[in-house]
Amino acid sequence: MSQLEEQLHRRRTFAIISHPDAGKTTLTEKLLLFGGAIQLAGTVKGRKAARHATSDWMELEKQRGISVTSSVMQFPYHESIVNLLDTPGHGDFSEDTYRTLTAVDSALMVIDVAKGVEERTIKLMDVCRLRSTPILTFVNKLDREGRDAIEVLDEIENVLQIRCAPVTWPIGMGKRFKGVYDLRHDRTHLFSATHGGHIQSGEVIEGLNNPRMDELLGDQADELREELELVQGASHPLDLDDYLAGQQTPVFFGSAINNFGVKELLDAFVEYAPPPLARTTRERPVEPSEPKFSGFVFKIQANMDPAHRDRVAFLRVCSGSYKKGMKMRHVRIGKSVQVANAITFQADERRQVEEAWPGDIIGLHNHGTIQIGDTFTEGEDLKYEGVPYFAPELFRRVVLKDPLKTKALQKGVLQLCEEGATQVFRPLKNNDIILGAVGVLQFEVAAYRLKGEYGVEAVVEAVSVNTARWVECDDPKMLARFQEKAYENLALDGDDQLVYLAPTRVNLDLTQERWPEIRFLATREL
Ligand code: GDP
Repeated sequence: MSQLEEQLHRRRTFAIISHPDAGKTTLTEKLLLFGGAIQLAGTVKGRKAARHATSDWMELEKQRGISVTSSVMQFPYHESIVNLLDTPGHGDFSEDTYRTLTAVDSALMVIDVAKGVEERTIKLMDVCRLRSTPILTFVNKLDREGRDAIEVLDEIENVLQIRCAPVTWPIGMGKRFKGVYDLRHDRTHLFSATHGGHIQSGEVIEGLNNPRMDELLGDQADELREELELVQGASHPLDLDDYLAGQQTPVFFGSAINNFGVKELLDAFVEYAPPPLARTTRERPVEPSEPKFSGFVFKIQANMDPAHRDRVAFLRVCSGSYKKGMKMRHVRIGKSVQVANAITFQADERRQVEEAWPGDIIGLHNHGTIQIGDTFTEGEDLKYEGVPYFAPELFRRVVLKDPLKTKALQKGVLQLCEEGATQVFRPLKNNDIILGAVGVLQFEVAAYRLKGEYGVEAVVEAVSVNTARWVECDDPKMLARFQEKAYENLALDGDDQLVYLAPTRVNLDLTQERWPEIRFLATREL
């Protein structure tokens, strides 16, 4: 096996999808713990909040070779190198989250056992479905009273339309939570609550019918046996092909905060989750094992460090390898660029990458020439597909305080939109500038940055747009007629594509009914 093949087969690149508060951060922290097999002082959350926590992480990196970053975390586990891509949670939720999912090879879904399938998870799952991304599921917080495990599986199957194959099964719940039974290995892991970040191991009992089970679990042993019979009758046996096709999700139970069930999850993850696979470009499929480097940009982040005013483009390596100082072709602009200083993002410090392999993420310095969706290669003209724009769900009009600054505003808005967190729409009927975003915080960020970076004082105000759809039609005459009739509601986006801005859902439904030949698209490929 070549070094390239060896390296890429070790790679597991994934993201966690969940609704806020399900336990993503807690689980991330535990995964890192296993990655370094160490006892950890700082927490992932603490790192965000307190500067002093940084030193723990840097120390940690030095000791164990773990790379901890705000957006990408790389850690070794057994023979694998795991890349965990962060999908921002709460208020800072944006299109970045969606697009990050185009850069992973699989996902891990975290479900709160008491809350079941929640709204954000449904949306993220829809995005995973676009690429049939394989998904493992972790049902969390079994140390608390929640819903019946069978009920939760039912809900996942019905709401998320994916078959469930339990890999572990919980024994009791809340105060009666005793551990999990591992169906793969026919063994039971008994739970012992822990605090702090220690990796603990409770007793392990081999075999479901081991008398030790009855000794330690009492009535719960027989309950488990009965339940398992029921579960095995009602659920799907694990089928790796179905998992890899995104049709079935292997399910694990546990408690992230107690670090319980996490190791079983991680072990199965590195075993089941796919290494980088072939990806499609407009021209041809590209195998990760091809010797020549290629990759695409899925995210641009600005001013991560106030001391550096540039923006950083996150590139997912798809084939070949990156070596420090190599020349890459920036396909869209048709130029060759020397990349001496690709980076990963350490907690508080930028560090240069020497080499990177398929599945890895590198950061390129961007002085305005890189856009989301751009492809970089070692010479060939390829264009990776499938990095989408999503129709925004929130809209605001940008109003200038000083009308003389129109030019600066336009420049600023276009550059902000290049990063992809907000989208710009210019109605055909007037000179308004309308911003669209997936999360409301994006507007505040946009106004703040317009002021700070472009010297433009602007406010955003409500506008009566409810949703947007990109408009396409194979018949140019029909399109022209539509353009005439729907003039009031049409706009151009940042790339001069035609967009229908619907004032209400009902309006959109009616318009779609009236114009069956027109395609109204909720996503657009970059
Ligand atoms: P995120 O918003 O998905 O990143 O969720 P966090 O990891 O921040 O967790 C949300 C809350 O749930 C925090 O208060 C955690 O301490 C708590 N939590 C996480 N995992 C568990 C668990 O296994 N059991 C219990 N009881 N609480 C948990």
